[in-house]
Amino acid sequence: MVLRSFGASTGFLDNLWKQIWSLKIHLKVRHFMWQALNHSLATKEALFSPKCAADPLCPICKENLETIEHLLLLCEWSHKVWHGSYLSLIMDPMHVTSFEALCYSFLVEDSPLEDYDKAYIACVYWNIWKTRSALVCSIVALNPLQVIESSNATVEKHWKINCNVVPPLFCPKISIDK
Ligand SMILES: [Zn+2]
Repeated sequence: MVLRSFGASTGFLDNLWKQIWSLKIHLKVRHFMWQALNHSLATKEALFSPKCAADPLCPICKENLETIEHLLLLCEWSHKVWHGSYLSLIMDPMHVTSFEALCYSFLVEDSPLEDYDKAYIACVYWNIWKTRSALVCSIVALNPLQVIESSNATVEKHWKINCNVVPPLFCPKISIDK
């Protein structure tokens, strides 16, 4: 499945935030989404201008600016996470104009995704960020499969608590070496 960005419109962010608020996700994931959509995550690019980071490069690939879009959607490593997830998502760089536009494309009412899928995507974002932040502190190895499994556990745990239905069974689509 390839997700494409939609253009911004009046009330775009308000509507997007309303959709995120309705997701059955843990408060910490919701708070993370709020930070990401308000560009308040401490990415290397954001920290570089006020000279709070030695360089603006992605700490994973070390080749591109670490923007929110690059880290969460376009980094080659993040690609492995998305593609290996049960949704098997492919982020098309030609159609990723901004993080918020892509979020809008999968959260708006006519999105082809189920509520569980939407909650899962938010959990993948959060787990990518969590893994990246641990890497910056040099305390983890980069393992896309571990991120996928953490995302499965994150969304399942909250889903079971808030919904009276059993979450769908899934496993990573492919095996990943790195
Ligand atoms: Zn990267």
